[in-house]
Amino acid sequence: MTVRTWVDPVDVHAVADRVEALFRSVFGGTADGVWVAPGRVNLIGEHVDYAGGLVLPFALPYVTTVAVRARDDDQLHCVSTHTEERWHGDLSEVAPGHPPGWAAYVAGVVWALRDSGTVSAGTGFDVAVHSSVPVGSGLSSSAALECAFALAVADLLGLPTDADGRFGLIAACIRAENQIAGASTGGMDQTVAMLAHPGHALLLDCSSGATRLVPIDFASANGRLLVIDTNAPHRLVDGQYGNRRAALEKACAELGVETLRDIDDADAALGSLTAPESVKRVRHVLTEIRRVSEVVELLTQARIADVGNLLTSSHLSLRDDYEVSSVELDSAVDAALEAGAWGARMTGGGFGGSALALVPADRVEAVVERVLRSAARASLPTPQFLSAEPSRSAHRLRPTSCRWSR
Ligand code: ADP
Ligand code: MG
Repeated sequence: MTVRTWVDPVDVHAVADRVEALFRSVFGGTADGVWVAPGRVNLIGEHVDYAGGLVLPFALPYVTTVAVRARDDDQLHCVSTHTEERWHGDLSEVAPGHPPGWAAYVAGVVWALRDSGTVSAGTGFDVAVHSSVPVGSGLSSSAALECAFALAVADLLGLPTDADGRFGLIAACIRAENQIAGASTGGMDQTVAMLAHPGHALLLDCSSGATRLVPIDFASANGRLLVIDTNAPHRLVDGQYGNRRAALEKACAELGVETLRDIDDADAALGSLTAPESVKRVRHVLTEIRRVSEVVELLTQARIADVGNLLTSSHLSLRDDYEVSSVELDSAVDAALEAGAWGARMTGGGFGGSALALVPADRVEAVVERVLRSAARASLPTPQFLSAEPSRSAHRLRPTSCRWSR
């Protein structure tokens, strides 16, 4: 397999042309429309979402497109350029574990909207998918797929898609991923895919659900944020995620709090925990939540280069206290720092996936070269580099103006 060093964002219309072509060739005729949702990267605030913490993701200029046509029966037909595996079946039979495979992310959205009474039975969908988001790299291709399709369903069935309406869709996408696809994740990915804004990160308070847009402009400080896809698939499903969540729950019980967000005195809390492992896990969460607030403050003051130190502290905390890094992520982060990055860290759930490096513009080439060399020397997969331009949220691309009356 040849690996491209730079994965440039593909023009969204080119992605849409491809999905429409797939739709035509598989289903015949034309789709009712094409909807788009972005992948995302989390600038900082890792493994704190399920602890009621703060996260700061933004949307990437890599998107998943779905071409969708409503059907008058209860059937769902799914096809994707990503895989040969197609699925069709009855929407009334969707349940945890069914359908198996990727169609769960699509079918689960309709299941959740029906289960909450938001939509009723009687409408099915033909769905074609094409994406420029790397799949399984920790950049949230799964939420991009759910959110693009959820928006399609909402438009086609006349549900509101304004900010309020989107919160309902976000909830449906989260339930699809947790309950039907069986991936136990928090709601950050779906929230940012639905609410992101170009040029901004989205500060999400996972305790209250409150969101705030925070401007980020790395270029103004002559900086560039690189996403480094290590090409080692993130391996969250092997029990480690559940294990970390359980460790935090145990610590909360010991500390007598509902979530770690409720802790005011971090030193006292850490001092009162008995198991050394609990101390490490909780220390990561408490320090990481503080780092998110500090990064927001620095971004507000346009002190971009200073953000770098906090990114690196986040990485060390995830590596040493939370123990969710991997040899590939450490290699990329260490190499980026050696080559002059202001800061770097793993991003996403860990155990593979992607890293971020905040780099002065004149060091970009040196960082890329050093990261590649370091991976080659350790016989690791060849990393790829992606653009981290904060981009827009899910939207309908085609037709540009239209109302369906179902
Ligand atoms: P990530 O969200 O970080 O890319 P996940 O493991 O959460 O990784 O989600 C990846 C899964 O989502 C894939 O294994 C597949 O089931 C589904 N998926 C994502 N994008 C697509 C796509 N374009 N076509 C088909 N399935 C997809
Ligand atoms: Mg995912």
